[in-house]
Amino acid sequence: MPHSLPAIPAVRTFLPSHNTFSPQGTRVTESLVGALSFVPRFVASEAYEIELDAGEVVLRALDPAGLSHAKATWNQLKGQKHLPSGLIQDEPRFEWRGLMLDCVRHFFPVANLKTLLDRMATLKLNRFHWHLVDDQAWRLEIPALPRLTALSGEEFYSTAEVVEIVGYAASRGIVVVPEIELPGHSSAAIAAYPELSCTGESIEIPRTWGIFEQVYCASSEKAASILETVLEETCRLFPGPWVHIGGDEVIRKAWQACPRCQEKIRSESLAGERGLEEVFFQRFIAYLGARGKTAVGWNEMVEHNVPHSAVAQWWLHPDLAKKSLEAGNPLLSSNTEYCYFDYPYTPENSWYDEKYMKVIPVSKVYENPVVPPGCEHLAGGILGGEACLWTEHLKAGQENTRLDGRLEALAEVYWSFDARPGFPSFLNRARLLGLNGPSWQVQPPSQPGAGG
Ligand SMILES: [Zn+2]
Repeated sequence: MPHSLPAIPAVRTFLPSHNTFSPQGTRVTESLVGALSFVPRFVASEAYEIELDAGEVVLRALDPAGLSHAKATWNQLKGQKHLPSGLIQDEPRFEWRGLMLDCVRHFFPVANLKTLLDRMATLKLNRFHWHLVDDQAWRLEIPALPRLTALSGEEFYSTAEVVEIVGYAASRGIVVVPEIELPGHSSAAIAAYPELSCTGESIEIPRTWGIFEQVYCASSEKAASILETVLEETCRLFPGPWVHIGGDEVIRKAWQACPRCQEKIRSESLAGERGLEEVFFQRFIAYLGARGKTAVGWNEMVEHNVPHSAVAQWWLHPDLAKKSLEAGNPLLSSNTEYCYFDYPYTPENSWYDEKYMKVIPVSKVYENPVVPPGCEHLAGGILGGEACLWTEHLKAGQENTRLDGRLEALAEVYWSFDARPGFPSFLNRARLLGLNGPSWQVQPPSQPGAGG
């Protein structure tokens, strides 16, 4: 009965030994070992075990990440009055269990990020996807390109703060994945350095939300050289193996009107603006590859002919998710139906915008199948997934009003194997941990046309 232990995410296996004990004051030892009492089945690292006994509690893991998970589980258990003795054997289903935070639409101070990283560690989430640039601002200091952040006023992350966050995350088993959007969502960069665009005209940073027509020129060597300076510094600041380069919602209109871009299409016999976009991605993916980094992109990027190592993040378009998996690109499952936590829990939430948001109660998050429809035979290519918190409609300090319950539920989805303990068990464990708030029990709205 693995679910009888109050832990979120639920532990995979618990072998009880019929006694109970009081965890208060129990001696705890921890060690890294070469082998556990079980052979991890799917992911070699991050596995751990805990021996629970009256005299002593022993945490064992194969690597520091596993030990950090063992501690997270023990920290949840030790608050209980009584615990059953026995052996916990635990490991994740997916190796990538993340949270994306948009720090552009609204800025989040370093202190908020640290609190969020603490929360992620308690839920055994291990990737912080940091959305740092977009149309409305550029938040990452690039010392060689000071105008990028100058337009954001005080609200950007200095290189020293980035190093601080990356280190803080690493000590909690979390890898930071920076996102530098290319070639769209680029108004802020173009406002700072107009030579990044096809026309070179000065523009203002947009003060509204939406999808904008600004796009980096796909044929200018000057623009490419600026972008390489950005990526070089990004690779230096973020020691993790991945750099996210966006690639979503590209409007190719500017390229149609750019003589330079049109000449490149002709001289290289590219398939129009779409082909131009493809070689643009290929160039920067190769640039990152030469620096030992793997590119991640929203699933529109991986629709193009890109290396099979590039990771696709599925948000919309299940057909593109399927195409990525068939092409052999690893997939992150961030389906908007289950993973977009800026959407409301209930239609009554004040921030509900029915024009583009879906309603996602905690129970719905818990039912996330992760695997795109029709892709069950390709499920081995799924690397994991991420919760996405876009911040057009939320300020720093309000993040918990979007994450509570849903982040816990999604952590269990990505951690647990197919036989998840079930939503009633999840609610019960949340209650035992003192986590269960009013938003957790919101029922999914009835489907349109489902009677009544
Ligand atoms: Zn151009």
